[in-house]
Amino acid sequence: MKIALIAHDRKKDLMVKLTLAYQPILKEHELFATGTTGLKISEATGLSVHRFKSGPLGGDQQIGAMISEDKLDMVIFLRDPLAAQPHEPDVTALIRLSDVYEIPLATNIGTAEILLRGLQAGFADFRNVVHKTENKPLSF
Ligand code: PGA
Repeated sequence: MKIALIAHDRKKDLMVKLTLAYQPILKEHELFATGTTGLKISEATGLSVHRFKSGPLGGDQQIGAMISEDKLDMVIFLRDPLAAQPHEPDVTALIRLSDVYEIPLATNIGTAEILLRGLQAGFADFRNVVHKTENKPLSF
């Protein structure tokens, strides 16, 4: 699975804690991140992370482009709901594209843990089911 990891500044320590805790799972997957987030993760965990530009300099848009090309399977985006971001339109666009392409997206640590545990248990490839049923929504 190809997983994107992004954290706003006040969420970066939390992202490092998350990736340290789930390092054994994450190391089995291909990781992508915005510039500073990726640097902090790789320094703290030793995980190999493909780093895009920093978020405010276009990194969120680069990750959005991967989604639109069907090259990402999961996004963990620890956004800061209490601080204005200079690149808010990019943040909104990334969240929107995740929904357009039905990519599992976590925007907080609670959902992120559920996604990673789902990944470990093999639950997170539900998009294959959607694709195999000609993009019809799953009925639960
Ligand atoms: P950064 O970008 O990882 O380069 O800080 C994240 C963001 O603010 O979108």
